[in-house]
Amino acid sequence: MAQMASDKRDYYEVIGVQRTATAVEIKKAYRARALECHPDRAKGDKKEAEAQFKELAEAYEVLSDADKRARYDRFGHEGLRGVGMHDFSHMGFDDIFSMFEDIFGGGGARRRGGQPRARRGYDLETTVELTLEDVAAGVTKDIEFTRLDLCETCKGNGCKPGSKPSACRTCGGYGQVARSSFGGMFQAVTTCPACGGAGKSIDAPCADCGGRGRQSHDHAISVKIPAGVEDGMSIRIAGEGDVGDSEMLRGDLFCHVRVGEHDLFQRHGSDLLLEMPISFTQAALGAKIEIPTLSGPETVTIKPGVQSGELLQVSRAGLPDVRGGKRGHLMVRVIVETPAKLTRRQEELLREFAQTEDKAVLPHRKGFLDKIRDYLGGGDGKKE
Ligand SMILES: [Zn+2]
Ligand SMILES: [Zn+2]
Repeated sequence: MAQMASDKRDYYEVIGVQRTATAVEIKKAYRARALECHPDRAKGDKKEAEAQFKELAEAYEVLSDADKRARYDRFGHEGLRGVGMHDFSHMGFDDIFSMFEDIFGGGGARRRGGQPRARRGYDLETTVELTLEDVAAGVTKDIEFTRLDLCETCKGNGCKPGSKPSACRTCGGYGQVARSSFGGMFQAVTTCPACGGAGKSIDAPCADCGGRGRQSHDHAISVKIPAGVEDGMSIRIAGEGDVGDSEMLRGDLFCHVRVGEHDLFQRHGSDLLLEMPISFTQAALGAKIEIPTLSGPETVTIKPGVQSGELLQVSRAGLPDVRGGKRGHLMVRVIVETPAKLTRRQEELLREFAQTEDKAVLPHRKGFLDKIRDYLGGGDGKKE
């Protein structure tokens, strides 16, 4: 403490209570005195008011703490030497005031004389489902969602028509209160629990919104979704969220994009992958085949000797880049299919072909029914 202990006035006198006053009486008296020397309210010298306020804060710090009060009662100012106390003489008015805001009920010191800051409405979220075709071309979607609008009856002030809100008694109209442990060094400013930060109290609530000043409405807007958008991206639509303290202070709407799986194409960024089965003769001899793309069928040439798993590129047949880069490609993965069934003629031709290759192949395989017939009706498979 900057002042000499002996210069100090009696704390009970400073606050204006009897030595026998209860904690509640002390708090009440302190609050009344402190508000008198609030620089916004004080009529006289501001410096003088601030000095008084500091004196009050110090007195209250002692008398509101049972242990410090007991020491003070027994030993006077000397009894508080070495006891952890705030040095109010070096603190600004705002700091002191905010320390005790739970008593004044107001975070006002931080915005002295001001109204609570106008609040912005909440952001809202919605999801839009797209197909890959939507992504390829870009699409406009109608999105329906529920949001808060100003109540039409009370125009948002929450009061019965003809009445007006008054200043919140808990926070004094500031919209914030501070929670602080009196001797503690830490305190947190929080939204006033009584008025939810609006700084107002409503005596006659509007019947249509129950005093909230807001009503929930279904709302629909058209959202232009750019081509090339990716699954998991969000589109921010500014000013379509919940209403705030005014229409100008709406939150935003975030539209989360979900892109469904496609039956044929797998997406890899802006490239697409298509698995295309071809016959082993097409693979060996080459072919012109028709493949699907997102913009209709297209003919591609399979070169003779293509291997299963090889990739062909159809340039620029992928997706547009949402950031304005180059359009992706369509990659065609060739899957060579081995015929599971051959006609007699096909088998003859292939066996002949196998001989030219000089590769060992299995002899002609009997069908399962042939084997059963052999087993039952004699022949090679006859049981002894
Ligand atoms: Zn209303
Ligand atoms: Zn309040």
